[in-house]
Amino acid sequence: MGLDTNGDQYAGLKDAVVEIGRRMYERGHVISNDGNISVRAGDNLFFVTPSGISKGRLSAAMLVPVDGEGRVLAGDRHASSEAPMHLEVYRQKPDVHAVIHAHSLYATAFAVARRPIDEPYAPELVLGLGPVPVAPFALPSTDEVPASIVPYLDGHALLLANHGVLTWGQTLDQAFDYLEQAEYAARLILTVEQMGGGVKLDADIQARLFTLAGNYKKLAGKRDAQS
Ligand code: 13P
Ligand code: ZN
Repeated sequence: MGLDTNGDQYAGLKDAVVEIGRRMYERGHVISNDGNISVRAGDNLFFVTPSGISKGRLSAAMLVPVDGEGRVLAGDRHASSEAPMHLEVYRQKPDVHAVIHAHSLYATAFAVARRPIDEPYAPELVLGLGPVPVAPFALPSTDEVPASIVPYLDGHALLLANHGVLTWGQTLDQAFDYLEQAEYAARLILTVEQMGGGVKLDADIQARLFTLAGNYKKLAGKRDAQS
């Protein structure tokens, strides 16, 4: 018998994808049917959003199970046309469990300008998101896209030239956080430039920030009540 991709063990993960789709749509990271979301659900199993459906109108039953080659394993929906791009990220980065692609306005404007998001204007941008490079233009939904992103997967996000933004993470929440951060960073940089320019955090401050990274991580975890 084949894999039962409708099993209860995947219900929580599918609901989480639906919830992220709703947040993406409501926060304006996508309009219309734009963007796509995927999660790694097993060794050779991924759930991808269906092609051509608004991320604000997803249901768990619409999500498309695919294997690592992009073959649809069940159901009556086609997988996102960008599934090969998502699968390339999973292939290159074994610790990644979620990938999000959006057309967020400010990040996409940077992608159109072919300009990386990398100004060190705020501690969160230096420590949290890091630089966001621009992958060269590739025709959406073609094999050009996965090939174009491979050299740009070191950080947490990249821009697809004249197209949009791609983020990834160990969890869906993390990939979504990076999406929000990339959009915020692009908007912040543009706003600062409209004001006539700002002060960048210098190399020394950036180095000191990195020494505090462990502290911030600890604070974000649970408190040890004994200490
Ligand atoms: P899909 O509807 O096929 O996921 O495509 C949306 C998109 O953003 C294409 O780049
Ligand atoms: Zn797109």
